[in-house]
Amino acid sequence: MSTLREKLTEPGGFVIAAELVTSRGLLSQHTGRALHEIAHQLASDPRFDLLSITDNAGGNVMLSPETLARSLVEVGQEVSIHLACKDWNRNGIESRLWEIASDGFHNILALSGDYPVAGHEGVAAPVFDIDSVGLIKLLSDMNAGMLDSRAPGGRLDPTSFFIGCAVTNHKLHEREVMPQYFKLAKKVAAGAEWGFNQIGWNARKDDELLKWVGAAGVPVKLIANVYLLTRGVARVFHSGKVPGVVVSDELLAAAERYGADADKGRSFFVDVAAKQVAVARGLGFSGAYIGGHMPFETYDEILNRAAQIGDGWLDASRDLHYDRPGEFYLFGRDQETGLSDGRERAEYLESRRRRQTDLKVPARYRASRLMHETVFAQDAPLFPLGTRLYRRLEESPRSLQRAAHLVEQAAKVPMFGCQDCGDCSLPDIAYVCPEGPCAKNQRNGPCGGTRDGLCEVYDSECIWAQAYERLKAYGEERELVSGPVVIKDNALRGTSAWANTFLGRDHSSRQHGNPTESKETAK
Ligand code: SF4
Repeated sequence: MSTLREKLTEPGGFVIAAELVTSRGLLSQHTGRALHEIAHQLASDPRFDLLSITDNAGGNVMLSPETLARSLVEVGQEVSIHLACKDWNRNGIESRLWEIASDGFHNILALSGDYPVAGHEGVAAPVFDIDSVGLIKLLSDMNAGMLDSRAPGGRLDPTSFFIGCAVTNHKLHEREVMPQYFKLAKKVAAGAEWGFNQIGWNARKDDELLKWVGAAGVPVKLIANVYLLTRGVARVFHSGKVPGVVVSDELLAAAERYGADADKGRSFFVDVAAKQVAVARGLGFSGAYIGGHMPFETYDEILNRAAQIGDGWLDASRDLHYDRPGEFYLFGRDQETGLSDGRERAEYLESRRRRQTDLKVPARYRASRLMHETVFAQDAPLFPLGTRLYRRLEESPRSLQRAAHLVEQAAKVPMFGCQDCGDCSLPDIAYVCPEGPCAKNQRNGPCGGTRDGLCEVYDSECIWAQAYERLKAYGEERELVSGPVVIKDNALRGTSAWANTFLGRDHSSRQHGNPTESKETAK
């Protein structure tokens, strides 16, 4: 069987993938056995190029994907393992990756992951030590042969991960859609080569995603998400309980209408999924990624129906326009097809020209920019003075260092809600702190879970939506995540972030290639 990499690079190739959500409990248990049986039925069907296995999807604890994947690899099935950052810190992930690579798995889908919602004797603590972009960098570094920290000068054998990522393009606001596009580009720059989008039933939005990727020259193979709904699942998605997944009022109404039929809407839902597959092929996606709970026969039915639609995909796409009132599109609507015309809309361009924002830009942001450009940026006029000052402080009594740290906190706590992480990302996120208000500590762009601009977990505006608006006020929003990958150094927690900046110890200094000065070890 061809590998996923080979399949995706075949000219005109179109990959068929199925998503398998693992069950709770032992694989030998009833639900585990049922999933195992479906997985092996899919593996025996040559139309399925890839079986993609989730990692504690929805934040619920489930059987690890590797357990199911091992038996599939034994029968020659190509699999991809989802790897999320919510339950593991970077060391746990790296260790797990050595195991995954040693077991012969190569296709990894790198995700930040859904916020945990359950656990033994209470809800589990979320980890989010790194985010999806940090994970992609880790995978890339492993592929390059990482320096062996225990053997100076030595390198570990390179892995050969084929790195995948996700993008959530079915969003409502400009401040959600555009950051998703930019973050996709960042993931690809960090090493992702393939990916798929979040569930959605809007062909114009999917067309726009592909056209944006083409126009921006982002070298990624995208597989389109296809999902088999039921009336019950449509209700859950519509309620907003699944992060990043949206069922519009119109689609819910259709699900309710057809769901009242004798077959509970099955033929309608299969038809919609088949149209999604056919439209994905017609639009130029590199494949279709079929999700939903169904027996093998339903997968078969969806693919057969999609094959029947074939060249009629454009007509079929007219039935996949379930968007929401006020939904943002970067590109205009093609009047003939109802799809994307690939040209930036005049209203969008005008709003850029006028630097018009939907959220108010606070005065403290403008002041913070000025302060950064004057003092904290590596090329700021007062940066050398700050460096000299903090070098002297390093040699001063601890009480003086603590006093300076207190002064810093007195300024940063009221202004930014600083949590004293010591490795400051304020300049990376337009002076919004990621530690408190971001439940997943996303330092490289927004996760896919926002609910019409709000955080997936808290009822506050997503920090990256705020940052987008602030930067747009200066015509800089396209630079939102254009910097190097940010990975926080936890050794700096509780130490002075200003000292760490001036003395070259934080991530921004590492990115500028500045030498690290002696570590401040105590609070
Ligand atoms: S030092 Fe850390 S916690 Fe404090 S403002 Fe900066 S990013 Fe937030």
